[in-house]
This record gives sequence, C-alpha cells and structure tokens, in this order.
Amino acid sequence: TKSATTLRGEEHVRVVVRVRPLAAREAQDARGLVVLDDMQTVQLMDGKTMTYDRVYGESTSQADLFEDSGVLALVNRAIAGYSATVFAFGQTGSGKTFTMTGPDAATPAGAGVIPRALRHLFELIALAPPEIKYTVRAGYLEIYNEQVQDLLNPSGAALPVRWRRERGFYVENLFVVECEVLDDCLAVLEEGLRNRTTAAHALNERSSRSHSVLTVYIESEEVAGAEGGEGPPTQRFGKISFVDLAGSERVKESKATGEMLKESSNINQSLLVLGSCISALADPKKKNGHIPYRDSKLTKLLMDSLGGNGIALMIACISPAQPSLPESIQTLRYAARAK
Ligand code: ADP
Ligand code: MG
Repeated sequence: TKSATTLRGEEHVRVVVRVRPLAAREAQDARGLVVLDDMQTVQLMDGKTMTYDRVYGESTSQADLFEDSGVLALVNRAIAGYSATVFAFGQTGSGKTFTMTGPDAATPAGAGVIPRALRHLFELIALAPPEIKYTVRAGYLEIYNEQVQDLLNPSGAALPVRWRRERGFYVENLFVVECEVLDDCLAVLEEGLRNRTTAAHALNERSSRSHSVLTVYIESEEVAGAEGGEGPPTQRFGKISFVDLAGSERVKESKATGEMLKESSNINQSLLVLGSCISALADPKKKNGHIPYRDSKLTKLLMDSLGGNGIALMIACISPAQPSLPESIQTLRYAARAK
C-alpha cells in the first residue's frame, strides 16, 4: 500500500479530495455525497463511487490534512533541489483558500497548507548540517485574464513570461523577497493576500477568477568541510509553488458577455490546459509525447513541477451540499482525469 507522506518514484501527481462541512447557508440542504470509511472513496447519492489517493471528510482538521496529504514530501523534495507544486481546485466557495491559507494563517488550528509548509521548511533548514547554506526567496503573483500581476509590487502593469535555456519559463521583473526566517515568509504571504483582496474589491469577484501563485525558491550550497574534498560546492535550486486556482464553475451563459466572456474563456482555458497536462503526464502512453505546457501561462510557469523530476499535489475541494452536486461532480471528474 501507499504511504500517505511518501511519493513513489514514478508518482508525479497525487490527487486528494477535501469535502468541507455544510456552510450556514446550506444548513437546510441535504447532502449530495458522502465520504466512505476507507478515506479513498466519494459516494454520490445514486450509489456511484469515485476513488482517489485520499478523500478527506468534513471533520478533517487543518493539521490532519497537512500531515496526511503529502505536502511534507513536497517540501522535502523542494529543499533537495527539485520543483514541487500544491494546487487547490474547485468551485468558488468550496474551500480552496481555507485549505491553502486558512481562515486565520496565524493560529495553530486555522493555519492552512501554506503557513504549515513554510514552518516545516524552516525547521528542516534549522536541522541541516552547518556546511549547507540555504537561501530562501519568495515571490507571489496572480494570473488574471492570462496576464501576470505581481502581488508584492502591484503596479498594475502585466509582467511578461519569458523563457531561457538555463532557467526555463519565468516571470520577468517579478519582485522576489529574501526570507531569512519563517516570519519573513509569512509576511510575504500576508502582503500578497492583502494586495489580492484590494484588487478583488476594485474589480468585482476578481479573486475567484484569478489564479494566485506563491513560489518559494530554495537555493542551497554545500561548502566543503574543513577536512573535506577539494571539489566545487554543490549548488541546488529547488522551489515549491502554492496555487489557489480560479473557481472552476462555469459562468452562466446569460452573464457571459464582453469582458466577462473573455475572462471566463481565459479561466476555463487555463484550467483545461492544466487538466490536459496533468492527465497526459499521468498516462504512461502519453507521458513522453506532447504535453501542452505552452498553451497557458500557468502551465508554462509550473512546467518543471508537472513533468521531469517535479512532483505535484492536487487538492480538489468540494461542498457536500445537494445543490452544489453538479459542480462537485465536475470537480471530481477533473480530479479523476489527473490520476
Ligand atoms: P474558495 O476559496 O474555494 O472560494 P473558501 O476557502 O473561501 O472557498 O471557503 C468558503 C467558505 O467556507 C468560507 O467561509 C470558509 O471559511 C468555509 N470553509 C471552507 N472550508 C472549510 C472547512 N474545511 N471547515 C470549515 N469551514 C470551511
Ligand atoms: Mg478563495
């Protein structure tokens, strides 16, 4: 059987599902689905079942989700010099931001995946032998309408995505902050969230229509010990990205005109491209064929965690309420494609 926190060598993408509790406004609603005791199966009311690496029910705490879902393994990979990504996917209101950031990133019970992963990262660094020197940097961006905006330096100008042989795809002129201690990294998270909220107020519901990407770059240099070899220092460049994806709901036909239509088609396009990349990578027959990374900015920027030596964790978020069932089934299907 698979261990929850280690990833098998060939397993690039792990997919888990989180079912949030019914919200107050759903109190009168029936449940449209349940999580079975095996913690791997969602059962719909018609008896149909769908299976994933893990399924977390309504009572799963932030701490349990973090420890069981495999985020620790991703942080470990990133510190070892590889690329890793954690995605939250699902319709607006399904719990993506709750899962990634938490209702309160500063409290032990509320903190989501990001603050917990950052804490683990700095704990690992503190435990590392002194001859390994780490430099941690963080950048936070938003992709809205296929345009990249810097959440740490919100000038409003869209930043270009470029490609270089030695670097792969990257965002030109992205503001990147060096983080010496955990609090520096948490401050980056807070600052980006604040700017994201401001932008969301300026433009109706923008945060549900944009992808936000917090990337932590971990550079390590292993200098030879006093009696050590003469060899050059070993340098490693790893990174871990935390992606709160745009709401996966379909925009109502009647509302989708002009800007709105352009917006929704861009969102659907990049979610579609992401799904195509992930499902192609999960299919041994297609894995070495053409993967359409270049079809969206999001997949360009995450290319190294999706393919090659990278690893990714997809957390599909759903509501258990009956009226949300059509959207929840969409999310479950998308997650199943990724397996
Ligand atoms: P999204 O980011 O997908 O739009 P949110 O994370 O903002 O959704 O969640 C919507 C609402 O549901 C929020 O009020 C949030 O606090 C609540 N919520 C989401 N997930 C949970 C959970 N696991 N436990 C308790 N409340 C949750
Ligand atoms: Mg959100």
